[in-house]
Amino acid sequence: MTEVLTANEHGLARAAQLLRDGALVAFGTETVYGLGGDATNAAAVAAIFQAKGRPRFNPLIAHYPEADEALSHVVADDRAVRVARTFWPGPLTLVLPRRADCPVALLAGAGLDTLAVRVPGHPVALSLLRMAATPIAAPSANRSGAVSPTTARHVLDGLSGRIAAVLDSGACAVGVESTVLDLTGEQPVLLRPGGVALEALEALIGPVQRGLPPAVAGEGLKSPGLLASHYAPGLPVRLNAVSVDEDEALLAFGPPLPEARCQFQLSAAGNTAEAASRLFDGLRWLDAEGARVGARRIAVMPIPEFGLGLAIADRLRRAAAPRG
Ligand code: AMP
Ligand code: MG
Repeated sequence: MTEVLTANEHGLARAAQLLRDGALVAFGTETVYGLGGDATNAAAVAAIFQAKGRPRFNPLIAHYPEADEALSHVVADDRAVRVARTFWPGPLTLVLPRRADCPVALLAGAGLDTLAVRVPGHPVALSLLRMAATPIAAPSANRSGAVSPTTARHVLDGLSGRIAAVLDSGACAVGVESTVLDLTGEQPVLLRPGGVALEALEALIGPVQRGLPPAVAGEGLKSPGLLASHYAPGLPVRLNAVSVDEDEALLAFGPPLPEARCQFQLSAAGNTAEAASRLFDGLRWLDAEGARVGARRIAVMPIPEFGLGLAIADRLRRAAAPRG
């Protein structure tokens, strides 16, 4: 049985205790719900992969309540300190070289000599991290390959009975994952677009190289999260739809297509931040509702690739990639 904990003093204390005991607790952040386990406890980290049913050991992000603590586990140069001061707490993950004395389990970083660290920007998550008093490894709290959860209900849909508890802190504000920035080399590299816009990073540290485009599995990717069909709803996805077929459900952006009989509006105003906050809800809703009305595909209207649109396009391209 998965406990559903309320985000009050009692619920937080219980969640922190479970984490310290090596159990798994899903918790809300400003991006999506994370599936948390003690990052210094390899068994807890292994349990994360198990609960998610991940086909491989993708490196996980270690979460901290304070920037100083996060940066003490990695080799942080001036750039990293500047970026951390500006964007933490917030939806940004930094990949940096691990320090030799870093207590995070190697499995959490999939054996890499780098570590992804983040201070999330959600008060409940920060309280939990402080009370747990250990870094928490937390990938998105969904079964591998499924859509990322933005509510406690979504978490339970995928993981009920597979994790000890979920700490319910309401719906996530950003709705897409954190931006992953690799600062291990001289040239900063964007490994995953996300909640912090690329433009904002470049304004602070200059040009950032775009990471590898979504590629097929097993091509020796620097960031395994770039796997082609990582974010797949149940129905196949067709991108850049300017019209909708009879057997399609529609993910709309901006002025909707009148002929769609089943549609979810990401942002009528064409606002990419609003669209990002509704993206995973939309895919889930279309999966269920589309199946109910007999749709065989989700058609997605074009979304401009700037700001959070870049993150949305990245997610959707993967949702549309051939399933393997
Ligand atoms: P998730 O676990 O769903 O939040 O995804 C974590 C993302 O961070 C994935 O895209 C991972 O591949 C990426 N990531 C985590 N650690 C590293 C690392 N050490 N090097 C490169 N990418 C990483
Ligand atoms: Mg994920």
